[in-house]
Amino acid sequence: MNREIFYENLIKTNQPFIEDYKRSFSKTLDSGWFILGENVSYFEKEFADYLGGNFCAGVASGLDALVIALQVCGFPKGSEIIVPSNTYIATILAIVNQGLKPVLVEPDIHTYNIDPALIEEKITVNTRAIMPVHLYGKCCDMDRILPLAQRHNLKVIEDCAQAHGAAINGKKAGNFGDFGAFSFYPTKNLGALGDGGALCMKNSEDYEKAKAIRNYGSRIKYYNEVIGVNSRLDEIQAGFLRIKLRHLDQINEHKRKLAKIYLAKLNDQFIKPVNQPCFFDVFHIFNIRLNHRDQLKSFLLEKNIHCEIHYPVSPNKQEAMKGIIDHIETPISEKIHNTTLSLPISFGHTEEDIHIVCDVMNKFPLI
Ligand SMILES: *Cc1c(COP(=O)(O)O)cnc(C)c1O
Repeated sequence: MNREIFYENLIKTNQPFIEDYKRSFSKTLDSGWFILGENVSYFEKEFADYLGGNFCAGVASGLDALVIALQVCGFPKGSEIIVPSNTYIATILAIVNQGLKPVLVEPDIHTYNIDPALIEEKITVNTRAIMPVHLYGKCCDMDRILPLAQRHNLKVIEDCAQAHGAAINGKKAGNFGDFGAFSFYPTKNLGALGDGGALCMKNSEDYEKAKAIRNYGSRIKYYNEVIGVNSRLDEIQAGFLRIKLRHLDQINEHKRKLAKIYLAKLNDQFIKPVNQPCFFDVFHIFNIRLNHRDQLKSFLLEKNIHCEIHYPVSPNKQEAMKGIIDHIETPISEKIHNTTLSLPISFGHTEEDIHIVCDVMNKFPLI
């Protein structure tokens, strides 16, 4: 029997950084400054530089980054926001949370990202923004989405929660639209040791607004200009993120190397992610598709290999969304939700781990 291979082991993933984390924690502890201190300021600057963008505001989570982006835009209640039908629920929650209406657009069955060809037919006089989600660590087809947005005068808010460092022709996710929302949830490619997020943007007025909103609507202490929230990136987490950011390219390259093994070695019964020459994918998730997905998942678990499903239920079929999302059929999303399986791929996995997973998978189904 092969050794146990977990989907993700955050102890292993963070192992190389532990000594630096400890030093950073001690330094913050000794400073006595825990909210919006120098780690947050430096991280915001370093992350904006990394992305090649202009401004970055640290916030408490990826969901909050999306919510604050929409709040900065200040669309009238009930405005329609275009979003992929197979996204993680958080993208849709952000829209609903702001009193706006999610309008679902189906993904492309090969890239799993929003299908640009299906966007225009969903645009109405009430549409105000498109929220492309760079799912699994692959950028959406921004060369087709941006001109569409421009033609219809729509804002573009990128959900980059799975795409830290992902790029098209060297241009990084978070830089294409008006806003890029990032999550630093511990399992993300740039993961903290708790919750965290960031909102990146092009416009300096938007940046000032976002910074006020995250801090009770206040820029000067005890003077409140807008209705804000408490959603600040934690100073201790920002210290950890500064350390990890310096290794993000190495983390992404490691995951790309593991993905290459899967792509080369898995047999053709599995539908593998597409590889497009100009796209730099960072494989937050490495998924395959198979009609007998559930049997494969059990088969792998019997052999000590843990997988996940991203995601088992599409947003429009979620209990919480009853009466909120128009009832529409989303056959392409359904197909993905019913057949997708996410394989182990993290900074803590070795090439040998991936070879074991491939060898076992290629024996499926046992006859
Ligand atoms: C993780 C994730 C989010 C939410 O980020 P949190 O930090 O957990 O709030 C949003 N969108 C997508 C696509 C995600 O994967």
